[in-house]
Amino acid sequence: MKTKDIDALKDISGEDNIILSLEERSCYSYDSTRLEYLPDVVVKAKNTGQVSDILKFASQNKIPVTPRGAATGLSGGCLPYRGGILLVMVGMDRVLDINPVDLLIDVESGVITAAVDREAQKYGLFYPPDPGSVKTSTIGGNIAENAGGLRGLKYGVTKDYVNAMEVVLPTGEIVNFGTRTVKGVTGYDLVDLMVGSEGTLGIVTKATLRLLPTPPARASLLALFETMDAAARTVRDIVSGGVITSTLEILDNVTINAIEDYLKIGLDRSIGAMLLIEVDGQQGAVDVEAGIIMEVCKKNNAVSCKMAASEREREELWTARRAALSSLARVRPSTILEDATVPRSRLVEMIEAIGKIAKKHGLTIGTFGHAGDGNIHPTILTDLRDSAEAKKVEDATEDIFKEAVKLGGTLSGEHGIGLTKVKYLNLEIAPESYKLMKKLKDAFDPENILNPGKMFPG
Ligand SMILES: Cc1cc2nc3c(=O)[nH]c(=O)nc-3n(C[C@H](O)[C@H](O)[C@H](O)COP(=O)(O)OP(=O)(O)OC[C@H]3O[C@@H](n4cnc5c(N)ncnc54)[C@H](O)[C@@H]3O)c2cc1C
Repeated sequence: MKTKDIDALKDISGEDNIILSLEERSCYSYDSTRLEYLPDVVVKAKNTGQVSDILKFASQNKIPVTPRGAATGLSGGCLPYRGGILLVMVGMDRVLDINPVDLLIDVESGVITAAVDREAQKYGLFYPPDPGSVKTSTIGGNIAENAGGLRGLKYGVTKDYVNAMEVVLPTGEIVNFGTRTVKGVTGYDLVDLMVGSEGTLGIVTKATLRLLPTPPARASLLALFETMDAAARTVRDIVSGGVITSTLEILDNVTINAIEDYLKIGLDRSIGAMLLIEVDGQQGAVDVEAGIIMEVCKKNNAVSCKMAASEREREELWTARRAALSSLARVRPSTILEDATVPRSRLVEMIEAIGKIAKKHGLTIGTFGHAGDGNIHPTILTDLRDSAEAKKVEDATEDIFKEAVKLGGTLSGEHGIGLTKVKYLNLEIAPESYKLMKKLKDAFDPENILNPGKMFPG
């Protein structure tokens, strides 16, 4: 970028909010993938007016702008692929208002997801979307990726909890989408268009999110199985048996061992698969549902199925689950995590296929994830510095995506396309739909300055 452009950004944002040194910019050149792209300048967002001025300036001067939340993204979404301005949103982190009658909370987009839930708890409410990164990720990043989480089966994903938002368009215009009402069908649903748009259509500066009353009772269960196959069948049978659990997570033997190596909490290393299950609601319903789940586990030859005896034991189980990715990431120098998702009825086939793909390419794949949503995370443990191994990983990844699509599934359940899946998009998106998506991008961002290279190549 030219010196005069940097000077203009200093005028707009104040010198304190601009980062130029190579060392500091390097700290902003990565996310939670293995990729790295260096921004020309890092700008800290402070308020909507400033974000608007930056985008207006960038549009007029054709400078790329990439919004960044907490950089926990797993598809390269916040990486400044074409350099330019990296706009860091974490400083806009205020909770603005909460209305316990309307069950709504207003926040700035840089607020941490767990902070929204903490605020809601003060009123006996909760914010259901809870990605594994809940303690770090931002609401803006969650909206951009339509983040899911551990409670997706019963409570849905981020898009189910966004009522309204303030957005700065790439041209610098400030617009408001959505309503504060329970219902609202006036015009096109631009809130839903923005959710999952991966920071390519506009920068979300504020959001009005839905909350729910905290269920009075819950029970957590841990079921162990000799095989992943048996665990996957149990997932299917629990749901078809009429129980919609709040959480239904699966972990395979590779993941269990990685977690045990890391946390040393006494997990059974010999076991083939583990299901972590939670039901919530009124106490009577919770008891009945927990009983049904125990029966289904027994029918599917679970080695054991028991309820967490205390809140401490429950917390330990969830800490173990949330540590799955970090634990696997310690095993080899590179970790390639995918989030192919299939209809729940095809989960058993998908899990079988991942086993075959690992064998075919001679790779170690740890699998865990939101089994109740048909959303699993096959995680390839590898060393990408070895070019022969890197080629095997590329081939295995493509096989995983092809299998998911063949089973009626999708390339990404929650992590988005970003940079990492751009080249696979045509496996799922038909040319007519792709053209329409591109027209929408052009309508929002005629100069293609906002997060270029994401979702669309180039
Ligand atoms: C350990 C771990 C566990 C995870 N578990 C889950 C999980 O269970 N479920 C799940 O869905 N994901 C999960 N993720 C992925 C990640 O946390 C989510 O995608 C999250 O939503 C990213 O939020 P972020 O604030 O880190 O965004 P970033 O990574 O900074 O950015 C992600 C995308 O959002 C865009 N963006 C950021 N802020 C804004 C804004 N204000 N306006 C417009 N665009 C913006 C960026 O340009 C980028 O495209 C996990 C990641 C890790 C590391």
